Amino acid sequence: MLYRDVLGYRVRAVDILGVRVDDVTLDEAVAICRSCIRSGEPHRVVTPNAEFVMAARRRPDFRALLNSSTLAIPDGAGLLLAGWLLGTPLREQVAGTDLADALAGLCAREGYRLFLLGAAPGVADDAARRLAIRYPGLAVAGTYPGSPDPRSDPETRDRIRAAGRVDVLLVAYGAERQEGWIARNQAALGIPLAIGVGGALDFLSGRVPRAPRLVRRAGLDWLFRLIIQPWRWRRQLALPQFVVAVAREAARRRLMERAQRGCAG
Ligand code: UDP
Repeated sequence: MLYRDVLGYRVRAVDILGVRVDDVTLDEAVAICRSCIRSGEPHRVVTPNAEFVMAARRRPDFRALLNSSTLAIPDGAGLLLAGWLLGTPLREQVAGTDLADALAGLCAREGYRLFLLGAAPGVADDAARRLAIRYPGLAVAGTYPGSPDPRSDPETRDRIRAAGRVDVLLVAYGAERQEGWIARNQAALGIPLAIGVGGALDFLSGRVPRAPRLVRRAGLDWLFRLIIQPWRWRRQLALPQFVVAVAREAARRRLMERAQRGCAG
């Protein structure tokens, strides 16, 4: 079992097919994010799910970006199933949308400034409005759809700089593109906490309905999303492939353990 010291917090790390996933609860993730902001140094939080893991198996650069993050929350229910099958269970699913929402609350309470980057035009504005209603006093430094294309980076950085101090940057460009954007631009902007949040702004804006809590608890949010956004079916093929790969890895580990016991005995 691997434990890491993350800004003074002892965090258990689980290996899911080569991707590090941190066994944190939502409250623990928020506390670590708070320490990231207070450190003043640039920290990245990533939100892996089964699709991320399958992509990371194909692209080592993406895997390296995930594994070098300060914190990797267990965003997808598939990771909990994988942790259990591999004998390294994770305690709680921490959806990126829930972390983004909780961080807006933290920003409102402690005076940190939030910037929402990405999503379709108007979506981040709607998300900012709804968050400001839910968390009175929230200072949204700015919103900007921009583009994950590296050629747009200088213009996007200018827009963010023009917004003044930013403590928390949420980037919604989808898996890989958002992590790439953060890796290229965070240090130059001097923003202490940056998180790739995928579809979170779509949900927080109210434009895309979220699965009801019970459906999420049952680990079936992917099914709900498939029903309301059926064009995602091709991407979701990663899910059955993920389960097969995890089952294979679990069987391999069991065989190795048995062989080791045989040698020892
Ligand atoms: N997105 C964007 N520009 C792009 C691609 C994606 O702003 O070039 C936004 C998209 O509008 C959505 C978010 O990225 O708000 C996440 O997209 P998706 O649902 O594909 O991401 P996932 O979380 O499934 O990886």
